[in-house]
Amino acid sequence: MSSQPNGPALSAGMPHDVAVVGAGMVGLATAWFLQESGVKVTVYERRHVAGGASWGNAGWLTPDLTAPLPEPAVLRYGLRAVLSPASPVYLPLRADASLLRFLSGFVAHSTSRRWRRGMAAYVPMNQRALEAFDALAAGGVSVQTRRADTFLACFRTRREARGLLAELTAIREAGQDPSYRTLAGRHARALEPALTDRVGAAVAIEGQRYLDPPEFVRALGLAVTARGGEILEAVEVTEVQPGVAGATVVRATGERQVHGAVVIATGAALTRLAGRFGVRQPVQAGRGYSFSVPADPLPTGPLYFPRQRVACTPLRGRLRVAGMMEFRRPDDPLDPRRINAIVEAVRPFLTGVDLEDRADEWVGSRPCTSDGLPVIGATAASRVFVAGGHGMWGIALGPITGQLLAQAVLKGETPTELAPFDPLR
Ligand SMILES: Cc1cc2nc3c(=O)[nH]c(=O)nc-3n(C[C@H](O)[C@H](O)[C@H](O)COP(=O)(O)OP(=O)(O)OC[C@H]3O[C@@H](n4cnc5c(N)ncnc54)[C@H](O)[C@@H]3O)c2cc1C
Repeated sequence: MSSQPNGPALSAGMPHDVAVVGAGMVGLATAWFLQESGVKVTVYERRHVAGGASWGNAGWLTPDLTAPLPEPAVLRYGLRAVLSPASPVYLPLRADASLLRFLSGFVAHSTSRRWRRGMAAYVPMNQRALEAFDALAAGGVSVQTRRADTFLACFRTRREARGLLAELTAIREAGQDPSYRTLAGRHARALEPALTDRVGAAVAIEGQRYLDPPEFVRALGLAVTARGGEILEAVEVTEVQPGVAGATVVRATGERQVHGAVVIATGAALTRLAGRFGVRQPVQAGRGYSFSVPADPLPTGPLYFPRQRVACTPLRGRLRVAGMMEFRRPDDPLDPRRINAIVEAVRPFLTGVDLEDRADEWVGSRPCTSDGLPVIGATAASRVFVAGGHGMWGIALGPITGQLLAQAVLKGETPTELAPFDPLR
């Protein structure tokens, strides 16, 4: 395969054949950008393409909102959650040792000072996030991203909007340039007639995009295979063994394959394979739920209910409704009470939406780190890399992560944008 415009040319010493474990947005984007330099990629996936969090998410590409999760307001939500089963954040009353470790780190990072430091790390990634999608489109990924002509964050009152406005101001102070305006409820309803008069104020954020997650990630997988990559579905990796000449991928069946390098991009399961390579940041499942409902009129763009922590996205003629942050084991079954909590949270604000006619009820695990920053780069083991832990933002930041990590794998140097996300911090 010849080298393409978005990657360094392959030269002596660079790995020519790289394994990626995990076929979510992050793993597949990394595989695609490695291919730009002519690398042969093999993707191992225990389920199927987009079998993890990359399936049922809201599909927002909103770099103007992409910020670290631990912040003083989230902490308040968390404490309230223990008391109220209908809260948008759910913490089990009895947490295991790894959840307690995660939560204590999360609490320690939920200060304004740490948030500002984390935000400064996000800014260079956010500024390039949409460009990386344009590179995928120019390189032949057939499903395009959509411009959000309207992107409305909705509130009962102007006063309620203050929290988001303060966050947007802080994002601007960190060096980004979000463009937004505040609207009265009636102006918001004129833009989106699906909103009821319970929406008393809104913030319209300009210049954002969205995509259909399963459709986009599948198209990305097809692009990887069309360029000569191999995606092995229903293949679970149980171990990665570093070595001098390469790293070995061990499958659950016991089969072994040596590759020039291995990238672990296993989402909420990242710690299982990467923990032994010095990745100390615990990656915890922050489970979210989604479903789709018929809507007439269908909103023309995404709707955000920040107080309720619910995201709505028009996809394939229906409205996908997503929300909830539930700290439980990734493989626990879907809890219908959480779906009901989302339904009741948005019911007052939407009209023409049949919240009882739900399809595609889904639960999936956001890969959350306690400092709110992803882990992207080299591990303590030679030829073993990780990419994950993006929490709420792995769709928006997946492609730029893949683009920058491919450089790190091939050149052996960490691009400056990735320095704050050092997996060994
Ligand atoms: C309700 C909800 C709404 C969201 N909305 C948005 C949004 O609007 N915008 C946004 O940017 N982000 C959003 N997110 C977050 C986003 O979905 C995640 O950050 C992102 O999908 C993570 O991608 P990933 O590739 O790291 O992980 P995943 O998509 O989970 O992929 C990891 C893959 O690795 C596989 N795997 C795991 N272990 C192994 C193993 N041992 N061997 C082989 N394969 C393995 C899994 O099966 C999985 O397919 C949302 C998340 C949720 C839950």
